[in-house]
Amino acid sequence: MSGGDMAKPLLGHQNTERDPSIMPAAGRTIGVLGSGDFARSLAIRLVCSGFKVVVGSRNPKRKAGLFPSAAEVTFQAEAVKKTDVIFVAVFREHYSTLCDLADVLAGKILVDVSNNTEINHHKESNAEYLASLFPACTVVKGFNVVSAWTLQSGARDGNKQVPICSNNQEAKRTVAEIAQVMGFTPVDMGCMSSACEIENIPLRLLPAWKIPTFLALGLFLCFFTYNLVRQVIHPYITEQKNKFYKIPVEVVNTTLPCVAYVMLSLVYLPGVLAACSQLYYGTKYRRFPDWLDQWLQHRKQIGLLSFFCAALHAVYSLCLPMRRSHRYQLIETAVKQAVEKKMNIWVEEEVWRMEIYISVGIIALGLLSLLAITSLPSIANSLNWREFSFIQSTLGFIALVISTLHTLTYGWSRAFDENQYKFYLPPTYTLTLLVPCTIILAKVVFSLPCVRQRLLRIRRGWEKGRYVKFVLPSPTGEYSSGETSSNV
Ligand code: NAP
Repeated sequence: MSGGDMAKPLLGHQNTERDPSIMPAAGRTIGVLGSGDFARSLAIRLVCSGFKVVVGSRNPKRKAGLFPSAAEVTFQAEAVKKTDVIFVAVFREHYSTLCDLADVLAGKILVDVSNNTEINHHKESNAEYLASLFPACTVVKGFNVVSAWTLQSGARDGNKQVPICSNNQEAKRTVAEIAQVMGFTPVDMGCMSSACEIENIPLRLLPAWKIPTFLALGLFLCFFTYNLVRQVIHPYITEQKNKFYKIPVEVVNTTLPCVAYVMLSLVYLPGVLAACSQLYYGTKYRRFPDWLDQWLQHRKQIGLLSFFCAALHAVYSLCLPMRRSHRYQLIETAVKQAVEKKMNIWVEEEVWRMEIYISVGIIALGLLSLLAITSLPSIANSLNWREFSFIQSTLGFIALVISTLHTLTYGWSRAFDENQYKFYLPPTYTLTLLVPCTIILAKVVFSLPCVRQRLLRIRRGWEKGRYVKFVLPSPTGEYSSGETSSNV
């Protein structure tokens, strides 16, 4: 997984720098227009952070009891007069009803905290709309990513980034200071044209997870169908045996490791493809195709989904002996052996296969857990680049090799047993080995000194066929310049 991806803050752009002069912000009076859920939570947090709060409501008498006693609840116009910074905790649809306040609001900072119900719902952002209604005010977009609940839970909920944008630097700075005093981390998102982007943030549903999730679901569906045909449909058609009871646990449990293993290999495959492309073109400056770029960026999510499937596989496997079907089968086998008077059923090879198979499986799961934990931003940030790349790249590759051993010991000689080819379909594990074995082979090739050296040079900026200037002394002693290829 790319370290850059992990080290990246939740939101791009630089954090607004902490300023030693921020403390005076506490103690100033902040206005809040509206008395709903957000306004109430905001007022509580502002009061707890040392601000004086004045709330502007259309019906202050009725709403006053909902606010902490330290906050003053009054009519909208009264509240606006008492402060220069006003949070507009009102829905966009009701902005126009505030137009009567235009005169008292003139010259003040309005903080637009509103959200929409759909991405890019309106042509212009809510903040730009508010600015157009109140041209004499300075509008700052911010705090919309914070929920009323987060505001109330206060510092216990940990730090949270608050993206802020405005066309006025001074106003943006003032709001950033307030956010800092409240325990948030303001993130400068630039000018007002970013408001739309900020308003879309709370509406996005796990954007980075879409492709990896579809990939995992697609793989699950393919392997599930394949296993269903082999384990349930085949005995039903060829021997009229009813094995449908296997669907909820056994078929799922043979599908999950396939998905986990293939997904893990898909974390390392784009790296191999990228290296092949760099070796082929002899440069690292050629852009990868978009699909490869996208793939590289989604490695963290693909890896985490692989871990998720592997963990489920472990739990399913532990529960296998608990099933009633398993108990019946066990008794049936025991009875059969008693009838056949078989005393010694110990098969040394099978015992060893199982011991190794389980042991390497546990190690692989342990390594995958380590990869998953270190991909969490808080842990990743505590590692330096070398530590991070050692865990994600080296240990990750070792996890792939150990998973391959787990798969091979599980399959053992079944690939060479023609009874295992149900409807001429090879055992599932042989299919899953395809991509990981290609990756392991490619990694072995990349570690050959001649290939490794070339790759290292390319990654340090060397380019095939690049022409460099050289300077030669002429017979007369003067210097003449020319060009030659550096590809020697
Ligand atoms: P809410 O509970 O419905 O409160 C909205 C408030 O707007 C009302 O209490 C009302 O206060 C005031 N208001 C002023 N003019 C109004 C009018 N003409 N018609 C109706 N109400 C009017 O909504 P909310 O959840 O607090 O959300 C307020 C804003 O914060 C929204 O823009 C929302 O997108 C944003 N926001 C909310 C959350 C959240 O977690 N709730 C999170 C982020 C952002 P008075 O009756 O006292 O005037």
